[in-house]
Amino acid sequence: MKSATASKITSEKTQAAYASYVLSNYGNAPFTLVRGEGSNLWDAEGRRYLDFCTGIAVNALGHGHPTWVEAVQKQAAELVHVSNLYHVPQQAALAEALCAKAGGSGKVFFCNSGAEANETMLKLARLYGVEKAGGEEGQIYKIVTAENAFHGRTFGGMSATPQAKIQKGFGPLVPGFVHATFNDLASFEAAVDDETAAIMIETIQGEGGIHSATTAFLQGLRKLCDEREILLLVDEVQCGVGRTGDFFAFEASGIQPDAIGMAKGLGGGFPIGAVWLSDFAAKLFTPGSHGTTFGGTPLASTAALATLQVIEEESLLEKVTAQSSPWHAALEELVTRHPDKLSGLRGRGYHVALVVKGDPSYWMGLLRESGLLTVRGGTDAIRLMPPLNVSPAELDASVGIIDLVLGMNALPEG
Ligand code: PLP
Repeated sequence: MKSATASKITSEKTQAAYASYVLSNYGNAPFTLVRGEGSNLWDAEGRRYLDFCTGIAVNALGHGHPTWVEAVQKQAAELVHVSNLYHVPQQAALAEALCAKAGGSGKVFFCNSGAEANETMLKLARLYGVEKAGGEEGQIYKIVTAENAFHGRTFGGMSATPQAKIQKGFGPLVPGFVHATFNDLASFEAAVDDETAAIMIETIQGEGGIHSATTAFLQGLRKLCDEREILLLVDEVQCGVGRTGDFFAFEASGIQPDAIGMAKGLGGGFPIGAVWLSDFAAKLFTPGSHGTTFGGTPLASTAALATLQVIEEESLLEKVTAQSSPWHAALEELVTRHPDKLSGLRGRGYHVALVVKGDPSYWMGLLRESGLLTVRGGTDAIRLMPPLNVSPAELDASVGIIDLVLGMNALPEG
């Protein structure tokens, strides 16, 4: 077998190998990234990019943070995996840290991705429904989610995601999902009935284009859930772990969810998912009722602990809050100066989207060619999601590149 590193990697050769061997389910950009340092990435031809994609909100500490690298290297040499048949001290330490972030009580379940975290919350809703129905299955099982939501690609996550582009071709979907309008409490009230077990919501819709739930909406959902005795499940897979300047994005609204789904930024680049569950919710799971082989391995838990350590030691939440204000102001100024190409800015902290005129992919391509990596956000925007430890100079550089690209290029005809 030929090793990928046996001959020099080039973007062209990698693209050709993909065409032959890798499932064509992504729209991969025509270049190959081979090295990262801080907020920068380099492609196989040596071109440098400012990384405001961060693996879609994953590389919370940028690339190659020395504390993270040292912790992961040491743990990899010591013990990578032992199975959840045994106690994993790193998993216990991480659970304790996440319980502290979520308010001091509760329990944590570990998995490997955002979809699995959400799947766990959906299974929690089913267990809760059975308990509420006095042990009867299939009586109380409905889950209300928001239009324009994204909760993952598993059958549960996909069924919770009311978007034709995600669901098409995969029916029949999991029954029991009902959809209501984001930020419209009356719509959620109308969607809840006696068969409802839970409401699941993203605090900030990420894939949908960075749409934030208002404080009044989140507080209204909490009240509705309390009144109707249903669970409030919050998907913080993308917006959580410091991206908004709060550890959890919902904190600003003062609500306490019954369960919180996390992934992406938690491992600082290493795959890990987690669900925090309230003490009440945690009791619904019993030994054997749920599990996964790889959840919370010594290595994955160490990567997440190192991420939390750096967030703490480098005061990254405070930095996101302080540095995002001037950055947002500079981006808003671009919106004012390029009204023919931009129509607004959405989001909080380092979880923002520039609303563009024309196809977002057109602008993303031009930004990439000018050295700035971004992510599409919904139908009308490009997401800017720098590492939490990005420098003020790099934030300024992003504004400079966007300004230059907007100034030098016209909207395509039609
Ligand atoms: N939930 C939200 C809010 C997400 O943004 C995503 C991924 O983009 C997911 C769930 C699914 O996470 P994963 O791709 O890790 O399965």
